[in-house]
Amino acid sequence: MLRDPLGIAYATVALVFAVLSTVAWRRRATSPVVARYLVVTMLGAGWWSVATALAVGTAEPWAAVGALAVYPGVGTVVLGFVYLSAAITDPEWTPSRRLTGWLLVVPVLVTVAAATNPLHQLLLRGPGTAELTGSADWEYGPLFWVHTAYSYGALAIGVGLIARGWWRAPAVFRSQRRSVLVAVLIPLAANVVKVFGGLEQITDPTPFAFAITGTVMAFSIFRQDLVTFSPVARELIIEQMSDAIIAISPAGRVLDLNAAAVDVVQTVGPRERVELVGTSARSLLGPELAGIRDEARDVTVDAGGRAVELHVRGSQLVDRQGRLLGSVLVARDVTAAKEQSRHLAEVNSQLVRQVETIDRLRTELVELANRDPLTSLHNRRFLVERFPVMLAEVQECDGTLAAVMVDVDRFKSVNDRYGHLVGDAVLVEVAHRLRAHAPAGALVTRWGGEEFFVALAGAGVDDGVRFAEAVRARFARDPVLVAGHRIECTISCGVAAFPEAGTTTNELFQAADTAVYAAKAAGRDAVRTHVGHRSHPAPPSTSPTRTWPPSARSPSSPASA
Ligand code: GH3
Ligand code: MG
Ligand code: MG
Repeated sequence: MLRDPLGIAYATVALVFAVLSTVAWRRRATSPVVARYLVVTMLGAGWWSVATALAVGTAEPWAAVGALAVYPGVGTVVLGFVYLSAAITDPEWTPSRRLTGWLLVVPVLVTVAAATNPLHQLLLRGPGTAELTGSADWEYGPLFWVHTAYSYGALAIGVGLIARGWWRAPAVFRSQRRSVLVAVLIPLAANVVKVFGGLEQITDPTPFAFAITGTVMAFSIFRQDLVTFSPVARELIIEQMSDAIIAISPAGRVLDLNAAAVDVVQTVGPRERVELVGTSARSLLGPELAGIRDEARDVTVDAGGRAVELHVRGSQLVDRQGRLLGSVLVARDVTAAKEQSRHLAEVNSQLVRQVETIDRLRTELVELANRDPLTSLHNRRFLVERFPVMLAEVQECDGTLAAVMVDVDRFKSVNDRYGHLVGDAVLVEVAHRLRAHAPAGALVTRWGGEEFFVALAGAGVDDGVRFAEAVRARFARDPVLVAGHRIECTISCGVAAFPEAGTTTNELFQAADTAVYAAKAAGRDAVRTHVGHRSHPAPPSTSPTRTWPPSARSPSSPASA
């Protein structure tokens, strides 16, 4: 049927549109709205091509039918193109029914006219119009011009939208978008030549031009992911980010940068105002910053005498084939953050020092609270805390613990005779001698007044008595020398041991105390033991208190003051 090679060419172009619309439809997931209108446009263009193929490649009446059938295709292309332009300019855009209704008025009128004889003469007229012959010589009727005016008006809106998107695009996207803008201008130019060029006899080049447009658009949308011309994403995300973002070409030139990056360049770069996009990144940012590729680094830069610390992350950009597209630098000013963390570290170390001081003071305080200021021995407070612990420890290992209570004999008379300061010095000497005789690990404490208490872990009653006796003998032998006085001073000791004398702190304290009284009662300068009621073995005498040494002086011979 298609004898004319031109007809075959149009049919081929129609095939191209079929392929393009199939591709657009299959890849619509990328951008469903854009894909939909691209399909509508391509189908319209396909229809237009098939109709033109008939018009130029077949005999009458098919040629005449083809010439008239062109118009629904053109109407579809126009409508599809306007919607496509709006969709790629604003991804949120959806046509209202009202708008679609208005935009359909002319195409529907034209389609009805084209399909109706003799109304089709409003579109195309000339000899044989009514009989559908001689279509090659037909001229345009008034409805054609209405249709043309409508189409150009609508196309102008579409092109305007795309031109606006191109104009507003960041520099780096402009060339990519320019190709789309040029692509949509080609069929417009072709159609102007066809309609107004006075070359009515020439074949309509518009479908061929649209094939180019469709291919470029499909490529841009689906291969380059140029889903939208809208600068919304860039404005909202990249431009407003506080991090500086700079895209650099493989040749090292700045492709794009956001507002924060402009600030960085103005801080670290040349003082004079220079064009930023297209300039070498090295000259704007300096070799260290511009040299950062796939890595993150902290860089300190000089901003007019002020040190600015930047945390810079570089990433290489590669396309799907692995070709290097350039790199992106993301820089964050961390000067304040670092300053703050240094400050925090300082505050922290101060706090650590203060806590250490507090700890030390607390330890000192506890020590002070546990010490007797006169003799520096542990005091009774410490004894009542520590003794139960010692007791529990020996209980656990089935050990023994001797408690020795020491009371200075007739101490009141020492005070009365020599004065309290001398008395104090005597107490200090008592503490000294107790410490000197006590074995390692013994707890020597001042019970209160002129009374002392020594706990000997691991010591049985005999060990306790041995210790007490050694100290007693020392006092009996060596007078205390204070301020030129030789003070004859004796002590009485009471010894009680775990487990014989008791198994609790109180029982042992009580037993030791009872033993001291026994020593006093025995005439002082003596050592006595006391075995508690639960003691075993049973006490050697009827009294639970034993005399030490067995050859002790008679209780009636008290030590003299
Ligand atoms: P006894 O042999 O019965 O123990 O007679 P004593 O005089 O030692 O006993 P008493 O309980 O009557 O007197 C104890 C004295 O110890 C009374 C008190 O003035 C004195 N004293 C207590 N604490 C201190 C002290 O810290 N310094 C001085 N200098 N004397 C003290
Ligand atoms: Mg006393
Ligand atoms: Mg006393």
